[in-house]
Amino acid sequence: MKYKKKYRAIALIMLICILLSGCGKPTPKRYQAEFLTLFDTVTRIVGFSTDGGKDFSAIAQKAYDKLEVYHKLYDIYNEYEGIANIRTINNNAGIAAVTVDQKIIDLLLFAKEMYNKTDGAVNIAFGAVLELWHDAREAGIDDPENAKLPKEEELKAAAEHCDINNIVIDEEKSTVYLTDTKMSLDVGAIAKGYAVEMTARALEDEGVNSLLISVGGNVRAIGSKYNTESGKYDIEWQVGIQDPENNDNELFSVLINAKSVVTSGIYERYYTVDGVQYHHIIDPNTLFPSNNYVSLTVVCEDSGLADAMTTALFNLPPEKSAALVKKIPGVEACFVMSDGNIVYSDGFKSLIKK
Ligand code: AMP
Ligand code: MG
Repeated sequence: MKYKKKYRAIALIMLICILLSGCGKPTPKRYQAEFLTLFDTVTRIVGFSTDGGKDFSAIAQKAYDKLEVYHKLYDIYNEYEGIANIRTINNNAGIAAVTVDQKIIDLLLFAKEMYNKTDGAVNIAFGAVLELWHDAREAGIDDPENAKLPKEEELKAAAEHCDINNIVIDEEKSTVYLTDTKMSLDVGAIAKGYAVEMTARALEDEGVNSLLISVGGNVRAIGSKYNTESGKYDIEWQVGIQDPENNDNELFSVLINAKSVVTSGIYERYYTVDGVQYHHIIDPNTLFPSNNYVSLTVVCEDSGLADAMTTALFNLPPEKSAALVKKIPGVEACFVMSDGNIVYSDGFKSLIKK
């Protein structure tokens, strides 16, 4: 997660009425809100309203407010006045335990659980290695002529400081302590999806029953979509999956009710060194970008699980990722291989719009 300062001050809400209706009794119309200030990406919220968008606008604002709390707490690049966040924890590595909000404890416990479930393929304690890649990528994007890979000996040295067991969580005291001075947390693989899931659940608890939330393509549907034909909220939301070869194209769309769709791809963040592209998902075994897939998509109920799984599966070879998908109930996945071939889990194809 990198939050570009230039977007910081801009909180943009665009209400776009897309469907026009003509009949007497109020027919729900589709509205969309966009925000540019969260998680260094575009947040899009879609819903329906019968009162000219007022109720939708209030719900979109609620969603924004909830997401913003997570955005600040899970930020690894910036600190905020009066808030102890992930960056505060990193700054205190080897120095002190930091008292944090329960939302941070919950994220870290979930991340540890995902580390265990995936045999370490997604590791939020991988910050020391990821920082080297992040810095090399940023420098390489700024000055492509002189783009360099991180030095292998530096990567190896950093990998000595990525032990997830060195995150000490005291649930009673609500503190987190990194025992290794040189370690740091990078929650970029999980935090966005987890924040979207928690926000969706809170909105559901408040009675919201039809909404689509997308934070940088990390999609979570609440309930179903309004159906102009039946006049009921009884059809699936349609979510397009990006074609990794062409930004403007979709591979296909999936249809979901109350579910999440998350895609990880090599096209999301990358830089080029000597004509070779290096992307942002780093294999803990090689300390280099994982070459198993071009992109992959996970569909399941929980957006936090979907986000964690996309990154983890990227780091696992095909047989292992297929086995992991099978092992976790309710998870379906689809993998775009480097030769363009697409591999689906057993239940994935039935989600694709015909
Ligand atoms: P995603 O786009 O969800 O796959 O997450 C990618 C982000 O996760 C990267 O930008 C890094 O911040 C982080 N990341 C990359 N590799 C790993 C890894 N092996 N374990 C944990 N986090 C990772
Ligand atoms: Mg992820």
